[in-house]
Amino acid sequence: MNKSLLDYLESKKCFKLVLGANNSDYEEIYKLAMVYSSIGCRFFDIEASTDALNSLIKGIEHSKIKRQDIFICISVGVNQDPHLTKYKIDPKKCKNCLKCKDLCLQDAIYFDKTTKINEKNCIGCSKCYNETKCPALISYQKTRDWKEFLPSLFDKVDCIEFHIITDDIEEIDKKWDYLCSNYNGLLSICCDRSYFGDKKIIGQLKKMIKKAERKVIIQADGAPMSGGCDDYKTTLQTIAFVDLINKSDIENAFVIMSGGTNSKTMELARLLDVKNNGAAFGSYARKIVKQYLNSSNYQKAKITALELFKTV
Ligand code: SF4
Ligand code: SF4
Repeated sequence: MNKSLLDYLESKKCFKLVLGANNSDYEEIYKLAMVYSSIGCRFFDIEASTDALNSLIKGIEHSKIKRQDIFICISVGVNQDPHLTKYKIDPKKCKNCLKCKDLCLQDAIYFDKTTKINEKNCIGCSKCYNETKCPALISYQKTRDWKEFLPSLFDKVDCIEFHIITDDIEEIDKKWDYLCSNYNGLLSICCDRSYFGDKKIIGQLKKMIKKAERKVIIQADGAPMSGGCDDYKTTLQTIAFVDLINKSDIENAFVIMSGGTNSKTMELARLLDVKNNGAAFGSYARKIVKQYLNSSNYQKAKITALELFKTV
């Protein structure tokens, strides 16, 4: 296990940039890595692929940061995990109203004779569907056989995060057994309370930590892929979840906040005296710099990213 990463988590000032478990826009990963590493971010969470890894390293090296000075986490999930979902449009049902296009924060939806979704940009946040209920928007899963791609990444990363957003406990346990038996590094469990009541999620986490026989990260998701509004309400659920974890007798875990994290997250956690090891920033961190990345205004992107970084 990477001792420096454990020390970083112990510092309780962990800032993890989530580039998207399902984000295969490698140009975007490169630019985000370049901007955030230049302002001090050292912990990055990416899709579990060599292409994502290479784009991340290219981005940090552009900012004169060495690979050994950052921590890399790759994310994998159960089959139903929303982080591994994509959307497509059924052209027979689509009326080309473009309501979904205006809602998509990833700019994944575009119009070219008909309305289409660029698969590599879609992160499966469901915002397009949830806010339109349009029957032309169809979700599908991007599932892969772990054995085909994970082992080749084991010695290239510092952490593997397992997303367990499902009610299929059998699948969770089977995949967790595989990770515990085959990967010696730091493991992280990303979970929310959408499928489990409070008692059940705590019981499941305790069982998984015991099985791991090492200290793990619990990444407590509040409102996963919320779209990242910058207010207290958006970030409240992750803090409530961390509070629940703190009040249980879970041991051997670092706890970081995620899902709905924004510039108010750390402030609200301090105000409420909810202890944590830091936070993972995804949709919000990407959204605030997007326009500057698109216009190649990297200086402005860095100034904006730094404001968020300083909140931790
Ligand atoms: S998919 Fe639905 S919301 Fe999107 S453009 Fe087509 S009809 Fe409109
Ligand atoms: S709103 Fe979310 S789910 Fe819909 S196309 Fe955009 S990224 Fe994909």
